[in-house]
Amino acid sequence: MQISFKDRVYSNELKNFVNKEDKENTENKEILIVGWVQETRDFGNLKFIVLRDREGTVQICMKKKKTPDEILDKVKDLTKESVVYIRGNLSINAKAPNGYEIFPAEMNIISIANVPLPLDPSDKAEKADVTANIDTRLDNRFLDIRKKDVAAIFKLRSRVIDAGRKFLSSNKFIEIHSPKIISSASEGGTELFPIAYFDKEAFLAQSPQLYKQMLMAGGFDRVFETATYFRAESHDTTRHLNEITAFDCEMSFIDSENDVMDIIEGLMKTILKEAKDSEEAKILNKEISIPEKFPRLSYDECLQYLNEKNITIEWGGDIDTKCERIMGEVVKDKFGSELFFITKYPLKIKPFYTAPENFNANDKYSRAFDLEYKGVEISSGGQRVHIYDLLAERIKRCNLNPENFKFYLDAFKYGMPPHGGFGLGIERILMQMLDTTVREVILFPRDRHRLTP
Ligand code: ATP
Ligand code: MG
Repeated sequence: MQISFKDRVYSNELKNFVNKEDKENTENKEILIVGWVQETRDFGNLKFIVLRDREGTVQICMKKKKTPDEILDKVKDLTKESVVYIRGNLSINAKAPNGYEIFPAEMNIISIANVPLPLDPSDKAEKADVTANIDTRLDNRFLDIRKKDVAAIFKLRSRVIDAGRKFLSSNKFIEIHSPKIISSASEGGTELFPIAYFDKEAFLAQSPQLYKQMLMAGGFDRVFETATYFRAESHDTTRHLNEITAFDCEMSFIDSENDVMDIIEGLMKTILKEAKDSEEAKILNKEISIPEKFPRLSYDECLQYLNEKNITIEWGGDIDTKCERIMGEVVKDKFGSELFFITKYPLKIKPFYTAPENFNANDKYSRAFDLEYKGVEISSGGQRVHIYDLLAERIKRCNLNPENFKFYLDAFKYGMPPHGGFGLGIERILMQMLDTTVREVILFPRDRHRLTP
């Protein structure tokens, strides 16, 4: 007989059918449930299956005489993590988890799981950090995400992206998709992955930067992309990957980079609020704090704070990972915030499209900023150059060839409003929020050593 999954319910929906005052009615309700066999227990005349689906678990109870023999036979061969289809009746039982269980009337084994499992996703080994090492887990990600807390990370990721998208849409940002295959003309800075593109040289895009700026000339005013960045950087750290995801935004008619920071601040507060109140934060046992205001400290002020800690950075030098961490602690102590902006970076360490403080190529400071969360950079942004001559000059001074940027520079010749934007790494948000590493918050990480699965 052809079976159908159409009427199936999730385990967490079963409680809707339970009415302790009306036991008879509850027990007459027929239920179809499907999922993975987390555990089987055999006490001779009494057998149990703990069935797990996306939303939780439910106990299936089988008794000699009450349960059809055919089902009791099938259970004998049932291996852990097999997929089963169970049609049965709910039964109220104070001793069962949640106070109810299912007595099966029909059972189909949909897919039998091999033995042994490369990784045990059962609830007992639920915590990601106490099970197999990360490589075994990533090699068997399909099993890894059957664990409740690992699944919670990715449900939270989905929630965060959804909240961010809603915030941006409601702030009049238009969602776009820019090309990921680009010609050699790129923004410079990080390394690019070359690809074969017919008879031409091409690369994977490191960010939508040039395209979203061109859309400002197009009059789109405010755009965003949940973008993929490809970065051929060879570092091997707990916060870098070679393929990542980011909220990438650009907005026109800004008075200064402060308007852009206002948007990130609103976006991050929305995301943090959504995460704080989520079911997943409870599962992961995470307290998420939301600062009232994100302090904005200039690069020079940061150098001064670091100096007070006996760390000297020569003006124009990078605030490296260690210094970022220390600044994170300083700001937490002084302002009570886990998030803060570093503003007014030296122009010479920022990309060509960064606006000089006073729109003069000789300016010392820029209108660029970074956003830090628990001592790690999660976003870079700023006001951009919108004046053609200044931009051409900046490209030259950054030792890039203006010829390669013709398609981009042209957009600055026919009416370009003042604008700015940012890239905000989604993995960085999640890893800092959950105090974990970048590989834990992306399903299939791409790093120096990993290209599968
Ligand atoms: P970092 O200095 O931390 O390596 P970056 O300054 O090179 O980052 P940007 O070009 O400013 O990165 O990219 C914008 C944002 O995208 C970063 O703030 C970060 O959140 C994220 N991001 C960039 N590169 C990576 C990467 N390799 N792995 C994870 N996230 C990244
Ligand atoms: Mg950056």
